[in-house]
Amino acid sequence: MTINATLINLYNVCPRECWFHANGINMEQTSDLVADGKVVEEESYLQRSDKYSQIELTYDYKGVLLTGKIDFYDTKNKIIHETKRSNKVEQAHIWQVKFYLWLLELNGIETEKGIIEYPRLREREEVYLDEEDINYLKKTIKNIKTLVNQTECPPVLNTKICKSCSYYDFCYAGELLL
Ligand code: SF4
Repeated sequence: MTINATLINLYNVCPRECWFHANGINMEQTSDLVADGKVVEEESYLQRSDKYSQIELTYDYKGVLLTGKIDFYDTKNKIIHETKRSNKVEQAHIWQVKFYLWLLELNGIETEKGIIEYPRLREREEVYLDEEDINYLKKTIKNIKTLVNQTECPPVLNTKICKSCSYYDFCYAGELLL
């Protein structure tokens, strides 16, 4: 089984979305948020792309293949840069970056921190990794493993985050609007 940063991120937003994604029910290509996020990324980093390296990492953790593609790694300062459009699911972004930091560490690559940038909000969040975080990530991996092997998908969240989710129509078809 493979667990990547997207699954870590989605698990921290909505287990149901994580289950959909892991089981190949993917609607993200139609998501405005995803498209918009890509635009933000291009706008923000195009002019300084030479400063960063793109790295792809894997690690076999107890039979689970952990994978991550870090688009902007500052090798000189040992900083991961991640760009997001909105901070609505900030905790999920933070865990995604902590997962990258852990993956680098597992591969013997020294890191300093991660920085999540929100160009449209003119905000940034610094992210660090400690032992407690690593324990949480280990627990998350175990939970995701159990979750994706379930035959039934988890229930809908029924929260305001659903309205900006690419699975909204799929989840709420036939139901009253939130
Ligand atoms: S619409 Fe809501 S319940 Fe459905 S996948 Fe998205 S966040 Fe989860």
